[in-house]
Amino acid sequence: MRRKIVAGNWKMNLDKVSSQQLIRDIEDRKSDAEIELMVFPPFVFIDGVADEAKQVRVGAQDFYFENQGAFTGEVSVGQLKSVGASIALIGHSERRELFGETNVVLKKKVDAALASAFDFIFCCGEPLNIRKTGREFDYVKVQLEESLFHLTPEQMSNTIIAYEPIWAIGTGETATSQQAEDMHAAIRSWISEKYDSNVAEKVAILYGGSCKPDNAKELFACKNVDGGLIGGAALKADDFIAIANSF
Ligand code: PEP
Repeated sequence: MRRKIVAGNWKMNLDKVSSQQLIRDIEDRKSDAEIELMVFPPFVFIDGVADEAKQVRVGAQDFYFENQGAFTGEVSVGQLKSVGASIALIGHSERRELFGETNVVLKKKVDAALASAFDFIFCCGEPLNIRKTGREFDYVKVQLEESLFHLTPEQMSNTIIAYEPIWAIGTGETATSQQAEDMHAAIRSWISEKYDSNVAEKVAILYGGSCKPDNAKELFACKNVDGGLIGGAALKADDFIAIANSF
């Protein structure tokens, strides 16, 4: 059976007190042990959130691919581990679009994570103009090929991918469950072609983009959707847990 994962990307929200309150509220409400819950606070709150987290995994929204040195403003995997993070997002669309992260840079981040045995969620997804011109499958395939498809079969088996169509992030416009399933099935078939069906079956593929308590059930019912990467709705414990309970 594939993993079931619900991950909350807190982005640049909350403060020290409210981030610790949110993790406590999530921990209090957490129910089904089969569902892996993860939260991704801003860097400065990881330490405090990790202190409060018991069953929920704590991760980072980004990191730099070097171990240490003269990289002002950056944070390494080793530093993240030292404050209790065990996983990170790589290639969120806001990192790609606002901070110019390319597939080449993201490949370096993937390799840095693997070199430190640090887990990651690799984010991919197309902008609206690509979807409008019917090129979304080619676009996402290239993202995977250029940053991820150099992994060994074992490394790929442990990978979590989040498909997040950019036009659905923070816009209230969700991909239909059919649109999500079509892309998730395509991603799994590319992994199967590159590796094999055993590897493809092990990879967890999450959907992200305006996922809320009222649409999560339909999305999670799709054969190839193994959970969600949640933005706005992850900032309220009740909504986040309601989404997790939608499986
Ligand atoms: C995200 O940014 O990863 C995301 C899915 O955001 P939202 O749920 O707010 O669309």
